[in-house]
Amino acid sequence: MFFNFDCKLTNLAKKAELNSRAQFKKIEETFKFNSQKVLKAFLDNRVSEKHFSGTDGYGYGDEGRKTLDAVFAQIFDAQDALVRHNFINGTHALTVTFFGVLRKNDILLSVTGKPYETLQNVIDSKKKSHGSLKDFGIKYFQINLNKNSKLNFPKIKDFLIKNKGLKAIFLQRSSGYSFRKPLSNKDIKKLSVLVKSISEKIVIICDNCYCELVEPDSPITAGADLIVGSLIKNPGGGIAPTGGYIAGKRVLVEKCAYRLTAPGMGKEIGATLGVNKSLFFGLFNTPSAVKQSLKTAIFAANMFKTLGLETTPKPNESRVDIIQSVKLKNKKSLLNFCRGLQKCSPIDSFLTPEPWDMIGYNCKIIMAAGTFTQGASIELSADAPIRKPFGVWLQGSLNYEVSKMGILSGIQEVLLENNRTKIKDNKQKEAKK
Ligand SMILES: *Cc1c(COP(=O)(O)O)cnc(C)c1O
Repeated sequence: MFFNFDCKLTNLAKKAELNSRAQFKKIEETFKFNSQKVLKAFLDNRVSEKHFSGTDGYGYGDEGRKTLDAVFAQIFDAQDALVRHNFINGTHALTVTFFGVLRKNDILLSVTGKPYETLQNVIDSKKKSHGSLKDFGIKYFQINLNKNSKLNFPKIKDFLIKNKGLKAIFLQRSSGYSFRKPLSNKDIKKLSVLVKSISEKIVIICDNCYCELVEPDSPITAGADLIVGSLIKNPGGGIAPTGGYIAGKRVLVEKCAYRLTAPGMGKEIGATLGVNKSLFFGLFNTPSAVKQSLKTAIFAANMFKTLGLETTPKPNESRVDIIQSVKLKNKKSLLNFCRGLQKCSPIDSFLTPEPWDMIGYNCKIIMAAGTFTQGASIELSADAPIRKPFGVWLQGSLNYEVSKMGILSGIQEVLLENNRTKIKDNKQKEAKK
């Protein structure tokens, strides 16, 4: 119609779409369930036009802010929530959570190995005294996942028994830039049963990035005490302009609020300016954005499979987050995929993404993100650290049909380059003869 993809490619796409059918059906079911859950929370909390008018100054008595927290808490089965545009990103919300919950000499244990890159400086900023957790006397340990990307329960149990002073357990559901599988609510349930059987006091903190409203239930129902994430990912529904959230046990959310604003003030202050409506609207749109994202991820996985590439998750595996990774094997393919995807993005389609040093990451990163909101990964985007085995992580979509064009454009660039290389190689062989 409007895009001239190679007909071999469009035939592959048709096949990939057929192969996605069973998975699409499952996603439709969760979409129905979560849509009703979200609507119910809006009704129960009597969301009204008056909640859209923001406060300025100190932001006292902001009914919109209060109601948004209540709606969010209900959706995620939490006692309370702190949903704020004042969180700069997910890393900031997680930082506030750690500093809110942990005190000097407390022990923090990660049960999913090394956390997301940007959190590593939060835990221990090796070079300077940046005021990381370590600078404040908080001790950190980690236990890696086992080979099947599962929690290592024997090691965790052993640690719990030997370290009675353990204050908090951290688990990261989504993979970050690794090829492991994400953690499901079922995994969290197993962990929480074990942890709470040893001590009720240990706080389970869950990095919930990219997992919001993918499954029908919530990590909090499964036993997590706090969930944390970014509003330019799932729960902003592609509409929130910035922000993050913390939700869970009331006393813990309160501690985090004291860290975000000031001890003694907590949730009672913070002007919302004009942003409430976008945050409500985005939350309302989350089930839909998640559905579009999941369909895009599954379609992409099926496309890559037909090209013989290794993906996580595999096309038919059940989904816990909206991330789709694929090993593209060489740097050229990686760059070409990201560039092709950018070419079919609604914003900045004419720009060419280049690998770049980014704050908080320890190697060059390429990001294709022709998005309305800067860096929003609930919109179709693809990013990757430039390192072996040249995997790319793609996520997001506000419109499956549009995002399909992005995926095809990315793959077309890879295939074109492969053909050019083949022709060149053949010519060189000919010349040698
Ligand atoms: C995105 C993400 C974060 C937070 O990243 P920000 O870019 O700071 O929002 C943390 N953990 C995981 C697993 C993530 O995917």
